[in-house]
Amino acid sequence: MIEEKLNKIKENIFDICSKSNRDPAQIKIIAVSKNFGIRHIQEALAAGQIDFGENRPQELDGKSKLINENICWHFIGNLQKNKVKYVVRTAEFIHSVNSLALAEEINKRAEKSEKIQKILVEINTSGEETKQGLSKDSEIDNIIYKISELKNLKLIGLMTMAPYTEDENKIRKSFIFLRMLKDKFVQNGVELKHLSMGMSSDYKIAIEEGATMIRIGSAIFGERDYTKSWREL
Ligand SMILES: *Cc1c(COP(=O)(O)O)cnc(C)c1O
Repeated sequence: MIEEKLNKIKENIFDICSKSNRDPAQIKIIAVSKNFGIRHIQEALAAGQIDFGENRPQELDGKSKLINENICWHFIGNLQKNKVKYVVRTAEFIHSVNSLALAEEINKRAEKSEKIQKILVEINTSGEETKQGLSKDSEIDNIIYKISELKNLKLIGLMTMAPYTEDENKIRKSFIFLRMLKDKFVQNGVELKHLSMGMSSDYKIAIEEGATMIRIGSAIFGERDYTKSWREL
């Protein structure tokens, strides 16, 4: 079941890439396993999936301790400073860095763990107040340039969530905004490689606009049941 869904997504990626002249190898699928159980992750692993995304520090920590296989974990949720330790010891990538204070805390923890933590800065490209991420130009510039000075961080890209809407144009605008922002920094000498954008409902548009990491939950695992804990699923 999960394998079929993954294969379908890979086919779609292939199609979109050939239409938009992109190399499918440049697009990483992150299977967002939040609120799903260990057996779901095992099933995806058996289908060859390596990258998994979680949005709660304790859930990431708990799951990583129950699974022996090699997983590349991505942390994609809102992160409070007092939870940074759980995430730094497990996550290869943290996509949701949305303040300099948080970046500094991650840097401190990474230094203690003798690790270079790969991070992305989360940008609010939709103007929706409910969304995390930075939106002011001055704040974005400030964090991007200051992060380069933090020795145990490696800034690899930008992340965003498109607005919740059926309006494809608005979604696309959000992704274009992120791509142009990245291009601006690259032109100014900041080495940014990745655009983490696109979820189950909008990953096709995201790929057309340059996504290199797509974060897909329900299209792989099905609808989430928030009445249950991942430990019961
Ligand atoms: C849950 C989540 C996703 C995946 O959402 P789906 O709609 O299930 O694909 C992607 N990104 C973030 C930040 C999430 O929290």
